[in-house]
Amino acid sequence: MPVSLFDSLSLTLRPLAPSDGHSFRMYCCGPTVYGPAHIGNFRTFVIQDTLRRVLETDGLQVRHVRNLTDVDDKTLRQAQSENVPLATVTRRWTERFHADCAALNLLPPHLEPAATAHIADQVALIEALLERGHAYVSPDGSVYFRVSSFSGYGRLSRLAERELRPGGEPAGPVDADEYERESGGDFALWKAWKPDDGEVRWPGPRGAAPGRPGWHIECSAMSRRHLGDELDLHGGGVDLKFPHHENEIAQSECGTGHHPFCRHWFHSEHLLVEGRKMSKSLGNLHTLDDILARGYSPMELRYALLAGHYRKSLNFTFHGLDSARSALKSLRKLAARLAGSPEALQPLARPQPAAPWGRFAGAWAALCDDLNVPAALGEIFGHAHDLTPEQSHEDATALGRLVFALGLEPAFAPASAPAPKPPAAVIALAEQRWAAKQARDFATADRLRAEIAALGWTMLDSKTAYRLEPARS
Ligand SMILES: [Zn+2]
Repeated sequence: MPVSLFDSLSLTLRPLAPSDGHSFRMYCCGPTVYGPAHIGNFRTFVIQDTLRRVLETDGLQVRHVRNLTDVDDKTLRQAQSENVPLATVTRRWTERFHADCAALNLLPPHLEPAATAHIADQVALIEALLERGHAYVSPDGSVYFRVSSFSGYGRLSRLAERELRPGGEPAGPVDADEYERESGGDFALWKAWKPDDGEVRWPGPRGAAPGRPGWHIECSAMSRRHLGDELDLHGGGVDLKFPHHENEIAQSECGTGHHPFCRHWFHSEHLLVEGRKMSKSLGNLHTLDDILARGYSPMELRYALLAGHYRKSLNFTFHGLDSARSALKSLRKLAARLAGSPEALQPLARPQPAAPWGRFAGAWAALCDDLNVPAALGEIFGHAHDLTPEQSHEDATALGRLVFALGLEPAFAPASAPAPKPPAAVIALAEQRWAAKQARDFATADRLRAEIAALGWTMLDSKTAYRLEPARS
């Protein structure tokens, strides 16, 4: 059954297929590695991972690329505030991001290109834009994209409709490359070096000053490098639609002359926390560690993040995590009835596409219909009472495949032995690290975290406490 998905450019439900008939090329905007990713970021990554799993379950070969933004305003500001090299900050938060992704059972992307490792690709694309008249060098040596040179600008975000609204953004060059900044004006492709950038600078495109790339250009350059001039699918949170994805389209289509840059746009909606927008000032930018420190498991979080349709904003609550916990218990019970025990559903190796879905055909159909996870879960639980052990073999296999598609396999693994107690030496280091962190001495805190890790332990911090766990392998 082909998987259909809503395309946020054409606003239609369309079947997904690789344009080269071989491999489905999927690019997703990754994290900016200057701090821990929060559960709003992870909602998007979990949804993208689930789409990839559904496509693979359907027998498609997927090539998944997700970038790392390791140079921009935020990463530079963080390095400056800690008075450490940029790479110290970005390495630390990349490692943390990887650990969180592994805990949430996200399949690693096939490639994870970093912006600082692709400066030459970005410079080459900017030079192509300058040559074709789509960009200009400003008096300070920065380079801006000339939005008026691209008639397709604004299609994805329906910019014309926005500008008709009172209070629309004024046009004009915009320096910031932050997510939240919106402008209908020209945007930076290359930013001339400023003293605030410290040691961070590269030789610029021809005619421009030394400096660093703007934020948007990296995705155009890296997706092209690793997936070619036309992507099968591009994903991201809805907040990236404008200006980031709009700018990517402009840069890519003007720089390569190839239209379209991307055949399918996939945006997931916002996450609210306890009914409110996530923000630093409200203190509700929860991280995975915050959730674990409250005694929930990564699979309970994954389930809770998947429980709403990706095209609707999801209200995350701790009550929702409790519901996820009981739903996972029910799923294990169902697995036990069909397979003898939850663990007997294992191993959930990559499933065979032609295998029958039996009683779970409706659940699979829901996943193929615009990734409707809530409907699929409803279908699964709807059969909880009419399944009999006589039909169980086929149904158990089908349920195992659904569990893989939803990325919930770890919840069906054998229960682990009770957690071992950390030795006194590890506790002493953890106390020192906590004190250093409270004193905002991040260099010492990092060093101690590494020492604790070398002893085989991971420290999980919430805002008010920490706990120690054996290091995830
Ligand atoms: Zn991007």
